[in-house]
Amino acid sequence: MRKRELDKFKKMLVLEKQTILRHLEDLEDESESQMESTSGDAADLASVEITQAAIAKLGGREKKLLKKIEYALQKIEDGEFGTCEQCGEAIPPARLEARPVAQFCIDCKTELEQNERRYGEEDEEDKWSSDVEEKA
Ligand SMILES: [Zn+2]
Repeated sequence: MRKRELDKFKKMLVLEKQTILRHLEDLEDESESQMESTSGDAADLASVEITQAAIAKLGGREKKLLKKIEYALQKIEDGEFGTCEQCGEAIPPARLEARPVAQFCIDCKTELEQNERRYGEEDEEDKWSSDVEEKA
């Protein structure tokens, strides 16, 4: 992959990383202000608990994506970005543009997803593409 292309993906990844970090900070602030504003009633505490759980879940997903972004950035540094980790073929640029955190080509990804489904594991990798759609 050319350096110009790599730089483009690096920029995309760094930008997304910053967005997530900022959002995680917001979530923490929200979580803290909720705790402070509670009156101590059982009902109030219950609703705070629900919100806290939702925040934790959302934050957890974003942290997962953050790890993938860090990983992709490391691959750029190592000169391994854009290569499928399963078969070693180049991942098509169109796929990387939609999901710069992609680790596999479509064929390998499809195969892996089928295996995951067989073992009942949840695949959260689609988050990146849905995020892009929301922003557009
Ligand atoms: Zn592959």
